[in-house]
Amino acid sequence: MQKQVNRVAHTIGTLSIVSLVILKPREIMNIEYNDDNELGNYICRHYWELLTESEKATYKASHARQKMDNCDSPNSALRAKIGERWAHLDDPLINNALRDGHAAFRNNVAKRVLAEQGSRVFINRCPECNRIVRTPKAKQCFWCGFDWH
Ligand SMILES: [Zn+2]
Repeated sequence: MQKQVNRVAHTIGTLSIVSLVILKPREIMNIEYNDDNELGNYICRHYWELLTESEKATYKASHARQKMDNCDSPNSALRAKIGERWAHLDDPLINNALRDGHAAFRNNVAKRVLAEQGSRVFINRCPECNRIVRTPKAKQCFWCGFDWH
C-alpha cells in the first residue's frame, strides 16, 4: 500500500515538473525579451518569401555557423561537415553580412523587409504584454502566458 502511495506521489510529482517545464511562460523562465531580436527572428522565419536570395543564403549560412558553435567538440566530424557544406566560411558577401553577428543580420533583414514590403507583414503581438508572439497565427503568448483564443 505504502509502495503504491509512493508511486502515485512520484507520478504526480513528475507530471507537475513536466507541466511546469512545458507550460511556463518564457517570462517566468527568465528568458530575456529583446523586441528587435524577436522581430528579426519572426520575419526571417515567417516571411521567408520576402527575403532576397542573398539574404536567404546568408540566413542559411548563419544557421549553419550557429550549429557549428553548438557542436560539443571543435574537432567533431559533424562540425567539419556543416562547415564544409553549409557555413560558407570563405564567402566574403556572407561574412560581410554577418560581420556584426547573427542577430544584427536578422534585425537588418527585418528593417529592410518592413521598409520595402511592410504592408505584407503582420506582426502578431500579444494584446496583454505587446510582445511579439511565436507565429503570425498564434493566439497564446509564451512570454506572459496570455491566451486570446
Ligand atoms: Zn504576452
